[in-house]
Amino acid sequence: MQIKDLCTSCDCWTITTIENDSTTATFTCTHCKNSFEMPWNTETRTIIRSIRHSLKKRTKKYPELQELKFAGDFVKLEERPDPKPGTGCK
Ligand SMILES: [Zn+2]
Repeated sequence: MQIKDLCTSCDCWTITTIENDSTTATFTCTHCKNSFEMPWNTETRTIIRSIRHSLKKRTKKYPELQELKFAGDFVKLEERPDPKPGTGCK
């Protein structure tokens, strides 16, 4: 499976692949090839779900994330302050 995530090694938003063999999940950044392992358990699955969930919000704030489509793509984001509550839509 693939997710978009902030790679702590190259400090870019990249496509991260997750492979699991039912005991270990291997996360690999397709840009810098940094990889790390986590136990494949409920907690890890919850983390992945929350990454995916928060990505929707983040993509609204940083439309550049839509440009991440293929393995090896990367986007460096400049942190922007959150819009002030009470402004914007509605
Ligand atoms: Zn990376």
